[in-house]
Amino acid sequence: MKKIIIRKTEELEQWRQYLKSDINFIPTMGNLHNGHRKLISTAKSDNSNFNLVSIFINPLQFDNKSDLENYPKTIDNDIKLSFSNGADAIFIPSTEDIYPPNNKNITFLKASVELSSALCGLNRIGHFDGVCTVVYRLLNLIKPKNLYLGEKDWQQLLILKNLILTKELDIAIKSIPTQRDFDGIPLSSRNVHLSKNERKLIKFFSNELLIAKTNFKQEKKINLKGIIKKLSAKKVLIEYLEHLHPYTLENSRVEDNISILAGAIRCGETRLIDHVFLMKRSPIIAIDGPAGSGKSTVTKLIAKKLKLLYLDTGAMYRALSWLLIKENIDYKKEKKLNNILKDISIVFKSNTNSHQDVFINNYCVTEEIRSQEISSIVSKISSIKEVRKFLVEEQRKIGELGGIVAEGRDIGTTVFPDAELKIFLTASIDERAKRRKSDKKSKDSQDLDLNKLKELIKKRDFEDSNREISPLIKANDAIEIITDGYSINQVVDKIIDLYDDKIPKEIQI
Ligand code: C5P
Repeated sequence: MKKIIIRKTEELEQWRQYLKSDINFIPTMGNLHNGHRKLISTAKSDNSNFNLVSIFINPLQFDNKSDLENYPKTIDNDIKLSFSNGADAIFIPSTEDIYPPNNKNITFLKASVELSSALCGLNRIGHFDGVCTVVYRLLNLIKPKNLYLGEKDWQQLLILKNLILTKELDIAIKSIPTQRDFDGIPLSSRNVHLSKNERKLIKFFSNELLIAKTNFKQEKKINLKGIIKKLSAKKVLIEYLEHLHPYTLENSRVEDNISILAGAIRCGETRLIDHVFLMKRSPIIAIDGPAGSGKSTVTKLIAKKLKLLYLDTGAMYRALSWLLIKENIDYKKEKKLNNILKDISIVFKSNTNSHQDVFINNYCVTEEIRSQEISSIVSKISSIKEVRKFLVEEQRKIGELGGIVAEGRDIGTTVFPDAELKIFLTASIDERAKRRKSDKKSKDSQDLDLNKLKELIKKRDFEDSNREISPLIKANDAIEIITDGYSINQVVDKIIDLYDDKIPKEIQI
């Protein structure tokens, strides 16, 4: 496809009318570096949409005239870099084009008060209003499907997400982690202004944030005053350093698993920002739902795509049921059951087909636990108090460090009630019975007729949803997805989008 450069808004509007494909939009202010390169190449590799880069230095977002005048301009290089990394078109409007004098159609916007009352918003009055105004203008002209933004400007990203939400635009924000230079400092167009000594200062600052992140993982708390003292001793001029909730930008609370430590420092004329996300443990996804809702297939694919540990808690209840039956144990006798549970070990191991095998007390039971015999008894056994207590503890041990996607019936309500993302996956009985019948894993189910399968599923639903301890219910904060009519990949993509919305890309790697 021919690469194009568009300079006039009328030209853009005309061209847009005839464009058939969706657009990935990458707004920039030019002086492109490896951070922009990554944004453009990520957009290119994400899908086959048309990639449009805009280069426009927006005067409305500068609170300082000399900063605007000195903003570095490298247009020829920018064009080369954009095209060689996957841009299909570049929009380079003039200020008069974006803000024609006396044009009543331009909406001057105000950024969300809550989100712009913290961090940079405190000192850069009007900055985020300017950002919202220009981006809204560009979005209306370009009408993209996806907007690509760097997490380096995290507050800006939140404010633009809020803008898209309040203006009810059907645009998804795709983000990339902060890209850093060889010495660890975040890439920024303003870095060209730094002297050797100033660069050392920002390097020290960025490094302190990284140290705080490592310490937080162990100590689960942060000594903000200590960090400020250390930075001041090195003559780093701190404009602010704050520990906040990553999405509301309110003060971080003790119970938050993920928070942000964000700061701005002054280096001569230049003001630089950096942040780290602090985490007590890695993120957790909880996927609950009834039998046959597609949980296992979806959960496994999500684990693979997001490089998370996969935990099939149903397999643990099944394995335990298998052992109790095989060893003819009277599980109704509490004392006897407790004695047995003390010596039980359930482990998952990856096998050569890159699937997981389940072992109980060293027996590999992967296949046997899928029999109809186990399916028909497992709900009864899983309603026993001692069994649940034992397995929930085991599951929590496995998920202690996070970085896990767990599927079951009580993950979001009981096992990991503080999971970052909770999904309640379900489907109609007809759909679930059909799926079970074609499920190669449930060998016995393939021989049953559909009506019999429906009956068995209904019975298990009833037992799972009506048991006394942690019954199958949707957690209050879970998102329900009804999978009838959707392909597996559509469901997986939907859940990954929801995850991206809750977890910064920076901590997904
Ligand atoms: O998901 P799967 O069909 O393998 O689960 C088997 C059974 O194990 C469920 O029907 C339910 O009775 C029980 N279970 C549970 N809590 C979980 C996972 C499974 O009670 N977290």
